[in-house]
This record gives sequence, structure tokens and C-alpha cells, in this order.
Amino acid sequence: MPVATTRQLDFIAYIQRMLVEGDFVATYKYALLHALADICIEKPFSVDPNSELQVSFAEIAEKFIALYWQHALPFTGADNETMQGELLKQNSGKQAKIITELYACHNNNIRNINQLKSSDRWPSLFKDTLKTLKEGPLWRLQILSKKEQCFLYPHVKTQKHITLNSGIAYCFRRFYDLVVHLSRHAWLQKIQSISANQHLLGAQTQLDEFLFGVNRQTITKARPVLEEIQQGKCFYCQKPLNSKTELDHFIPFAKYANDLGHNFVAAHSSCNNSKRDHLSAIIHRDRWYEQNIIQNSKLIDTELSPYFNCDAPRSEAVTSWAYQTAVNNNAQLWLGKGCFESVEALQNEMLVG
Ligand SMILES: [Zn+2]
Repeated sequence: MPVATTRQLDFIAYIQRMLVEGDFVATYKYALLHALADICIEKPFSVDPNSELQVSFAEIAEKFIALYWQHALPFTGADNETMQGELLKQNSGKQAKIITELYACHNNNIRNINQLKSSDRWPSLFKDTLKTLKEGPLWRLQILSKKEQCFLYPHVKTQKHITLNSGIAYCFRRFYDLVVHLSRHAWLQKIQSISANQHLLGAQTQLDEFLFGVNRQTITKARPVLEEIQQGKCFYCQKPLNSKTELDHFIPFAKYANDLGHNFVAAHSSCNNSKRDHLSAIIHRDRWYEQNIIQNSKLIDTELSPYFNCDAPRSEAVTSWAYQTAVNNNAQLWLGKGCFESVEALQNEMLVG
């Protein structure tokens, strides 16, 4: 029997959610996702697409080392050939351990993975990588919005392997390009976002922003208007705004990359950072609707039209699309710092509506 279409869609929705709702301090989880996809296409596949697939920790560790091997070379900015080059950081805090260890191997004149495997450094490197995997990424990859959701494999910590659930290996094979593209893109963005890397990346970091990012200069124009509408209070926590006020895209820019005048709210920088690319909770959605569509639609039109496309019906349509998608994907909604709610209430609302 083929893998049910709904299961395949659930797989894609889950990967999408993982990249938004996962808490990624280091790049390990992107590497793990990439590794799993690679392993699924590298292994001979069972004739039954619904079969489970055992993947040993050893296979993952080896793949992990291979994925990071190239990353552990000093990076020189493209436009500065005289520069010495430095290791890119792969963790918001201390450098990721695997990078430090692989760098030492590079410095020991080991030129490729095969040489590495036959070198005397391999046993300890392999052991440390296994330990890293078991201490973190393997059991954290599937924590979405602080909740364990084991869609890909159950968390059985007593064995030396994981077992991909029925049909998962099939999905990794079928959507290999997509999964690898998404994990590489998120991985790259993570490296770009680590402040210790920014002096090295310079102009390259700005290219993505330039081509597809937010025009921050224009955005500042909308802030005073929203601050006034909200009477100086943060849209999300309702506490007084301070000097660190930011303009937030109510429907996250990562989901819908256009600036619509009615999609802005003013919020604390800390609230905004906690919300990131999440869709916010139903109470926020209702407040947004009341504030930007019912009460102040005209004011927003008048004040923001010189800078942004102001079209209330379009904003409404985009918002209901975003929440419909959240329901379909069973996404978690952001309520406040570290707090999430399920989309259940919305499911009921949509049934009634
Ligand atoms: Zn706030």
C-alpha cells in the first residue's frame, strides 16, 4: 500500500513547523535533519513504503562528522583576500564542540574524511560526537514550541538506534530535495544570525536582507502611528512601551513577505524576539482585528498609505489564510514569552464558521 497522501502532507507540515517552532541554539538540529534525509536515500529501501526504518546512532554520528568537516576550516570574507580567516561559530554561546575537534584534525594535516577515519583521532572524535548527539539534538529535534512531538521517531533512549516511524523514510526519500534545501537554508541563516560571525560575513549577510528582507528605514515611519493607536502599550503584553519598541509584522514576515500597512503592531523588542516567526494566539488575532481593521482602518490608510500598501481586505484575507494554514498544520500559536497554545479552539471556530 502506498503511503497515504495525508501522511505525506503531514510530513511536510511537520518539517515546516520544526523550522519555525524548534528552539535552535546551535546548528546541530539542522545537521541532524540533513543527516536523516541523507541516510534515508543512502540505505537500500524496503519494498514496503510504509515500513519503519532503523537508523543507528553510529550512522548518524558518521554523517554528522561528514557534514561538519568542511565547516571546520577558517572562513575568509569573499572581498578580503588578505584576511587570515576564522572559524565560523555554529552556536550562539560557546563554539560547537564538533567544530573545535574537527579543526584540530585539519591542523593535524588530515585532508579528507577517509584519512580522518583511519587516523588515530577518529575513535575519540566518533565517541564525542555520539555523546553530543545523545545529550542534545536527537531528543531536542522534535521539541516544537517546548512540547515533545515525536512525529519522525519515538524517543527510546535505551537503544543504540532510532526507528523512523512508518512511512517517514519514504517521505524523506520522496521530499529529499525540499528537506535538504530547507535545512541548509535555516542552517545558513543561523550562522548569519550569530553576532560573532557578522564581522566575517559582512556584505554577504546583507544580500539576503537586501533582496528579500524588510525595508527597515520605511518601517520606522509606521511606528509612531501604531504607538499612538495602542496608547503607548505593547500590543502583546499590554505593558507600557519603552525605548526598545519595535514594529512587528502581525502575520510574520517569514510567512508572508510583503509589508501591508494593516499588518503592523508596535511591541517590545523582547516580545517581538520571543514571537519570532510564530503566528500569535487567538486573543492577539482578535485584538489585531479589533484594533487595525475595525477601529483604526481609516487612520492606518491615511497615515501609512504614503509608505505601504494599505488594503484592509487584503490584510484580512492574508490573516485568515495564515490561521487556516496553522489549523491544517496543527501548529502551536505564540501566546507570550515561552507560552504557546494549540490551534484547537480555532478548529472549533472554523467548523462553526
Ligand atoms: Zn510586550
